[in-house]
Amino acid sequence: NTFAEIDLGEALNLNIQRCKYVKPTPVQRNAIPILASGRDLMACAQTGSGKTAAFCFPIISGIMKEQHVERPRGVRGVYPLAVILSPTRELACQIHDEARKFSYQTGVKVVVAYGGTPVNQQIRELERGVDILVATPGRLNDLLERGRVSLQMVKYLALDEADRMLDMGFEPQIRKIVQQMDMPPPGARQTMLFSATFPREIQRLASDFLSNYIFLAV
Ligand code: AMP
Repeated sequence: NTFAEIDLGEALNLNIQRCKYVKPTPVQRNAIPILASGRDLMACAQTGSGKTAAFCFPIISGIMKEQHVERPRGVRGVYPLAVILSPTRELACQIHDEARKFSYQTGVKVVVAYGGTPVNQQIRELERGVDILVATPGRLNDLLERGRVSLQMVKYLALDEADRMLDMGFEPQIRKIVQQMDMPPPGARQTMLFSATFPREIQRLASDFLSNYIFLAV
């Protein structure tokens, strides 16, 4: 019933205390242990449910445990270990702000990329290093087409507000993005999908992108 009981790592637990999170919300209490065990997850979560922490904590914790990962540098783009897709710039910025607080002094670097602003500044920021890339689907596709980002090393993929992303017409971009992630061996990527509603299109997305997943409705 506390965050300390879940083994997320000392630095992250300290940041959780700094954020004054004492008690996990229902989605956190249920989702974090599932994600920490490595399973894929489709979760029903509304705004305000604490879903951001529910996917950020296991991602940050996982990356902290794997910081020895060697990544190629430069020429063929930057190599994030995690991608968080969000429908809007506002939500992407909120996730980025929270993820940065959670990853303070963990060595995990979070960068945000969204459309509607010049791409070059975001490219420069990415080139300084990125572990977790928070992005809107359109801008991430743009970066992929420019060869500035490679998704070859992505181990964690979170789709936030998946129903809204589909409503906004992002399905083709999301599919293109995920196609570039399939790193062998199959199942090496951990995928988490958060949505408020579960129409047929979301279920199809889940069966295409998630493997052997747990469905959580809280
Ligand atoms: P979210 O649903 O992720 O947008 O979170 C909604 C708000 O609740 C944000 O302002 C979070 O910082 C806050 N929050 C999330 N989890 C907790 C928690 N366990 N304890 C206190 N506040 C939280």
